[in-house]
Amino acid sequence: MNFTVFQYPKSKHTRSLAPRLFKRYQTYKRYLQHEFSRTCVYCRQPDSSAPNLNFGVDHYRPKGIPKFASLECNYQNLYYCCGSCNSRKNNDWPKDESKGPYIVNPCDYIMSQHLRFESTKGTMATRTKFGEYTEDLLQLNDPTQVEYRKTTLAILKMAAINLTSLNNQKTQIIQLFQQNTISADIYDDEIGNIDDEIKTIETFIQNNTGSKPLLRVRNLK
Ligand SMILES: [Zn+2]
Repeated sequence: MNFTVFQYPKSKHTRSLAPRLFKRYQTYKRYLQHEFSRTCVYCRQPDSSAPNLNFGVDHYRPKGIPKFASLECNYQNLYYCCGSCNSRKNNDWPKDESKGPYIVNPCDYIMSQHLRFESTKGTMATRTKFGEYTEDLLQLNDPTQVEYRKTTLAILKMAAINLTSLNNQKTQIIQLFQQNTISADIYDDEIGNIDDEIKTIETFIQNNTGSKPLLRVRNLK
């Protein structure tokens, strides 16, 4: 199993949803969760990887800057973002718009050209000035984040190995039962235990890779 969690997109994201206009920007959160596959667009952490990550709606052009106040509920200006990236980003906007530096987002920039996840180290490497600016402002290489990414990937790999082994065990139990080597009671017990373990590992993998199924939203384009 090859995990792509934490990797930055290699192409620009084209929005697939077109929700109607809502009065409260918070209503867009569930659309943004779909739009950006339940992952923080800046640090690439999935919202299902831990409780209390306080995911919310990021206003790329900050709503706290008067000239952008009209974009508060403009879907094109909204991104899915974890609580720490959101508070670190805050009202950041370049003084000189012609020069930047800008924080990179997945709709206007090819993220992977600016930032790259280094899986062996757990770090986010910077490739451009905008990438450096984003990494620095959002503290993408905060030591606890780096350790979290590194350990998560290692445990995901162990989980995948475990899953393969459990599926092999299951095949063996089925064969033993078909050969009448074990009783129906033992078969039921063994299969039940293995299925529980498989379910737990699959849930772990889904939560930590951001592949946990989403609830449906209306107004799909
Ligand atoms: Zn984040």
